[in-house]
Amino acid sequence: AAMRSLPYFCRGEVVKGFGRGSKELGIPTANFSEQVVESFPSDISTGVYYGWACVGNGDVHKMVLSIGWNPFYKNIKKSVEIHIINTFKDDFYGEILSIVIIGYIRSEKTFNSLEALISAIQEDIEEAKRQLDLPEHLKLKEDNFFHLPEGKIVNH
Ligand code: ADP
Ligand code: MG
Repeated sequence: AAMRSLPYFCRGEVVKGFGRGSKELGIPTANFSEQVVESFPSDISTGVYYGWACVGNGDVHKMVLSIGWNPFYKNIKKSVEIHIINTFKDDFYGEILSIVIIGYIRSEKTFNSLEALISAIQEDIEEAKRQLDLPEHLKLKEDNFFHLPEGKIVNH
């Protein structure tokens, strides 16, 4: 399906996730609040995406993002989780995360093993890196959106 809302720019606070141990798998995922998730356009369907992300007024990094259904809310609420392709010294809960979602990688799947899940995510990360090196995607890294005054929440 065509996703007319892409690229989608979004900013919000990083909140505690489900504690599924993503960090233990080596793939921490920053979560947005329910309010931010609810503001997402409905044509951005569940699945895995690539784009750019920036914590506070820090550097802009490549990211992979997954949109799925939150089992804690009986699968009626979407959740959005972002893995930034960068190593951070510290956690950044409570900070403002700015992202641009650019393109779709794959649909949501379930996996038979943890190993299969981890290798799928590694492939997503490699695909994101390749896509984001394309000139048309690279230029969004320099978008003014990432240089707006901190704390200003603008979703468009
Ligand atoms: P939670 O269940 O609270 O989301 P995770 O195990 O998924 O816990 O870890 C996510 C947290 O890890 C983020 O909120 C952020 O503070 C921190 N973090 C550190 N490095 C990264 C990264 N590269 N990408 C995303 N989050 C990161
Ligand atoms: Mg998480």
